[in-house]
Amino acid sequence: MKLAQQKIALVPTMGALHKGHVSLIDMAKQQADVVVCSIFVNPTQFTDPKDLEKYPRPLEHDMKMLLEAGCDVVFMPSVTEMYPRPETWHIDLGPAEFLLEGEFRRGHYQGVTQIVKKLFDAVNPDVAFFGQKDFQQVLMIKNMVAFFQLPVQIVSCPIIREDDGLAMSSRNIHLSPDDRKNALVLSRALDYVKANFDSIPVAELLAYAQDMIDHTPGVALDYFTVANGETLEPEYDKSHQNIVALVAAKVGETRLIDNMILN
Ligand code: AMP
Repeated sequence: MKLAQQKIALVPTMGALHKGHVSLIDMAKQQADVVVCSIFVNPTQFTDPKDLEKYPRPLEHDMKMLLEAGCDVVFMPSVTEMYPRPETWHIDLGPAEFLLEGEFRRGHYQGVTQIVKKLFDAVNPDVAFFGQKDFQQVLMIKNMVAFFQLPVQIVSCPIIREDDGLAMSSRNIHLSPDDRKNALVLSRALDYVKANFDSIPVAELLAYAQDMIDHTPGVALDYFTVANGETLEPEYDKSHQNIVALVAAKVGETRLIDNMILN
């Protein structure tokens, strides 16, 4: 139960925790009195049953990370606790739901917003922390919060990367040594676009970045786009204030996403 004057923060995760997750907990600790971290591999957001089945679940490692991070409460519900009966869920998340990840993973954001709403109902947080790593997810969650007029503040936190630039992800452990090297093309392509954003037209930047990725063995591009950060529609007008480059690709058998804010 919530005590008066205590600010509660929620950090929702699917476990297999890494420094990216810990950075969210660190931010949460700075802004709240009680930090709750949830670990729940949510079946309704997976569009590929194999991806769900092989999703890593290193429980002992996670508990150790959370203890070290100074997390106050771990919420680790079972699937039947969160979904006692089959439920259809559909809310209007706006047109961006069907772009980018929404195009490649149909129904993904209905599943994501469904579980986040359930976690908010269970934990009753004042503020919740999400990673910019899942750029579109943050937008969709903000739209869900607006849809229900929930009194929860949504905070987006910077992407934490390995020293060589690869965005940290629970899925990185599936990368073979070759995949791990090849995966670097994603952050390098984003770096290139960011470094040259002021001087080269967007169409040329895109062509170059796509070419870099297409010429990397074992990497199959789903999309590389320079988009309006609110609508996620392609953006060619550099005078717009909120522009982001987003990429998704399969590296070997592992699908990775990454992005960079350009201005
Ligand atoms: P996940 O466990 O992958 O569902 O991620 C849980 C939360 O951690 C989400 O809000 C992600 O955006 C965030 N996250 C994942 N990877 C990173 C990263 N490399 N840097 C910052 N936040 C991240």
